[in-house]
Amino acid sequence: MRPKLLFCCLLLLILSGCIWPERSPNRGIEVNFREEKPSPGAFLPPAEAGEEAAVSGAAYHPEAKKVVYLTFDDGPSRHFTPRVLDILARYQVKATFMVVGVNIPQNRDVVQRIIVEGHALGNHTYSHDYKKIYRSPDAFVQDLRLCGDLLQEFTGRPVKIFRAPGGPGNLSPALKQQLKQLGYHSVGWNVTGDDANPHGASAEHIYRTVMEGVMRVEKTNAVPVILLHDGADLHTLEAPPNSALARYIETRKNLILALPKIIESLRARGYTFAVVDEKTPGPR
Ligand SMILES: [Zn+2]
Repeated sequence: MRPKLLFCCLLLLILSGCIWPERSPNRGIEVNFREEKPSPGAFLPPAEAGEEAAVSGAAYHPEAKKVVYLTFDDGPSRHFTPRVLDILARYQVKATFMVVGVNIPQNRDVVQRIIVEGHALGNHTYSHDYKKIYRSPDAFVQDLRLCGDLLQEFTGRPVKIFRAPGGPGNLSPALKQQLKQLGYHSVGWNVTGDDANPHGASAEHIYRTVMEGVMRVEKTNAVPVILLHDGADLHTLEAPPNSALARYIETRKNLILALPKIIESLRARGYTFAVVDEKTPGPR
């Protein structure tokens, strides 16, 4: 009788999971970890697992009414935009891409991905060439239309959101009026990452500049519209050391390094992320 009783107890313990319980939960953790692990981007730092842990631990207040807009100018770029999209997907954050028309034809898949993943597109002119677009109001409108036509192929409807290269301050009052009558909606910014600095910018500098800007805007009760850059399209990432191109590439990589921390800190301050539309407040 005794051995039989012992066998029954043992069987009961196994069935209730008190003995050798670690197998299946462990497998579950492994699977989850793999699923949550970000797709490795070319410029992402090696310590990704630690960052991932920081994400789930970040304070997030879905009930909060604080809204922030992340905007990325000058793309799409084959090298940088997909890395930005990877990070946004990982954090389930939406952003707005102010794209330049000349970069579109060779990056159609990147534009498609921006749309499919739920981000917004804005018109950042076709040429982004200051000498060309600011020669006359008509030149600006023509350049804007050229990019708009390309964008409409993807969206199926007119894209009326635009950002003037260099900011809305470059638009004369007459041109602003003309664009308004044509149904365009100008979107500026009130926070920048200083990531278009020709002298370059470290990841730490970009992060600090954004967060200081956000805190400054908070004091005025305005909605932060953050200007960042996913970069112009480049044929190569090779550049002579200390050249302007090398600094540009380095700064784009640094923005990608800074972005997760920027998103985490904005969330920790209670922000939710919106995409730019006609109702977006802020500088015009
Ligand atoms: Zn620009």
